[in-house]
Amino acid sequence: MRAHRLIVQKFGGSSVANPERLKRVAQRVVETKQGGRDVVVVVSALGDTTDELLELARQISDDPPERELDMLMATGEQVSVALLAMAIEQLGEAAISFTGAQVGIRTDGVHTKARLIDINARRILEELGKGKIVIVAGFQGVNIAQDITTLGRGGSDLTAVALASALGAAVCEIFTDVEGIFTADPRLVPAARKLKSISYDEMLEMASLGAQVMQARSIFVAKRFRVPIHVRSSFSSKEGTMITDLAKAMEDIVVSGVTVQKDEAKVTMRDVPDKPGMAARLFRELAVAETNVDMIVQNVSREGATDVSFTVLKSDLPTTLKVTRQVAQRIGAGAVTTDEGIAKVSIVGIGMRSHSGVAAKMFEAMAEERINIEMISTSEIKISCVIRKINAERAMRVIHQAFGLHKRT
Ligand code: ASP
Ligand code: MG
Repeated sequence: MRAHRLIVQKFGGSSVANPERLKRVAQRVVETKQGGRDVVVVVSALGDTTDELLELARQISDDPPERELDMLMATGEQVSVALLAMAIEQLGEAAISFTGAQVGIRTDGVHTKARLIDINARRILEELGKGKIVIVAGFQGVNIAQDITTLGRGGSDLTAVALASALGAAVCEIFTDVEGIFTADPRLVPAARKLKSISYDEMLEMASLGAQVMQARSIFVAKRFRVPIHVRSSFSSKEGTMITDLAKAMEDIVVSGVTVQKDEAKVTMRDVPDKPGMAARLFRELAVAETNVDMIVQNVSREGATDVSFTVLKSDLPTTLKVTRQVAQRIGAGAVTTDEGIAKVSIVGIGMRSHSGVAAKMFEAMAEERINIEMISTSEIKISCVIRKINAERAMRVIHQAFGLHKRT
């Protein structure tokens, strides 16, 4: 059951980067409350606080214990909730701030990327019942040993969604420094336009494909518990984008967005013996080393050997190279080469499930621009192409155009 008076509002770091902005957030929260709502607010640390804290830790140690990193990082949100409570009181409304532990946000014990186990909403409901605005520190929880944990970078989104679910809120509003979800990053594609709505599945794909509006895990949780999300600007009162279960209504829209990722590199292992078990060995070893392989392409075999190419995050490249070279030597493959000059351009849309010719249209758009495609991967609602990085923006623009994303629908 959704409590229709209750709303969860989450404000990201940039929305509370300085006292002026924090006061504006307080104003906005108070207006919501005075409009007759019960309000639970989740805030991130002020501005770049979390990065600054991590940098501090790095100056002390090159391998800080993760438990202590969590102790350190969680302080960021403790500052912002207290300040916001003060700012709200200043405006004449009653407010109370809490850490994650205080409102029973329980997690597992995996420091720096803990998973939520459950939330005890009792204290929050009690305070709402007294007419207070409740402010909860994002990004943090507590494990069974009472140690503070954090939920992974961008984890305040997850706190907000999980609270909205636990409290049965009517909506979870995510306030950020953009006006909503766009058909493409407007800085790269000037013709991009704001979407009125998008489905959880599309948003999940877009978040993992480089659209940095919301933490991917939070969308996963929102989908699972059907929490309606409204992504909107904290600097204007314009409507943003609703993320909901729209699968049906949206089937006519073939493609909702175009994304680009530039944080991957391509690794190629040449002259791999063309016999059973070779790929299994390589990718098992990479999995053991905890590198996340994204796209994989194996060429047609010629004279008993083949080339295997795959992409990994650049940050995983050193480990990947080490492992791949070892495997190459053991199985008698050839040279291992890397290529960091790539970009991955993707289109996302649930309409792909029911339309044909989507891939052809994407490839044609790039062909006309003489942009070469090096790798392709598809899922039910997404098509990704690896191309030269220098062509990335141009590719995005022509694909965006080809699917008519600039037009009003
Ligand atoms: N402050 C944390 C971070 O920067 C959590 C968040 O912003 O959502 O990752
Ligand atoms: Mg932050």
